[in-house]
Amino acid sequence: MLEARDLSKRYDGAQAPALDRLNLTVNPGEVFCLLGPNGSGKTTTVNLFLGFLDATEGQALVCGIDSAKDPLGARAKLAYIPETVMLYGALTGLENLAYFTEVSGAPAPPASLLPLLLAAGLPEEAATRPVRFYSKGMRQKVGVAIALARRAQALLLDEPTSGLDPLAANEFAALVEKLRRDGMAILMVTHDLFLAKQCGTRIGVMAGGRLARVFDAGDVDHLGLERAYLDLFRTGAAA
Ligand code: ADP
Ligand code: MG
Repeated sequence: MLEARDLSKRYDGAQAPALDRLNLTVNPGEVFCLLGPNGSGKTTTVNLFLGFLDATEGQALVCGIDSAKDPLGARAKLAYIPETVMLYGALTGLENLAYFTEVSGAPAPPASLLPLLLAAGLPEEAATRPVRFYSKGMRQKVGVAIALARRAQALLLDEPTSGLDPLAANEFAALVEKLRRDGMAILMVTHDLFLAKQCGTRIGVMAGGRLARVFDAGDVDHLGLERAYLDLFRTGAAA
């Protein structure tokens, strides 16, 4: 699972911290959705969990492993799906999956690869087509299949549905729900309040590097969430 403890990041030369004492825990079977305007520190949070950045203070823990001290150990437990999943366009979905599980150091048996792509919702006929013909949603399904193959226990998603059409976004939401039920701990950055309400077990709103509000998904409806979000930034209450 994922835990941020007083996690803070100030980029070199910056006046204000990009992330200011973030505390959050995402347990297995939970989806924590992180909302917030551009520049509020969401991607910085994700990059700290991945060990791509060093924290100025505090810790990002993945299954108890400090991402700054042991980035490879932390990443071995994690899967990361950015807005655009980077794959080799000339290779098929199946070949990309084989390649990326191989380089991750946890090769999966060849016979398991197609079932993983199907479990991620990729149509069977697509699996043997070069990825350059894939839609954005299909690329993300390959990303999910890679996460499944690696038996990742935690999943980081950074705006995974931006640029997806409503049908693809809905399919993605169903997939996230399935991963949650299978016991993954999921941290999902999104601008989509509807998706956050649909997928999240908890919903946090970041403002200026701080977690300004946290809701249990059961305690707000879509309209309530939208109102709370707008109020936060309209009134400047977050500052
Ligand atoms: P979000 O993902 O919520 O849009 P980010 O985490 O990307 O926000 O950025 C938070 C703040 O940190 C912003 O003010 C941004 O300009 C700054 N920032 C992000 N990355 C860097 C970087 N590599 N160097 C300097 N400042 C950065
Ligand atoms: Mg971002």
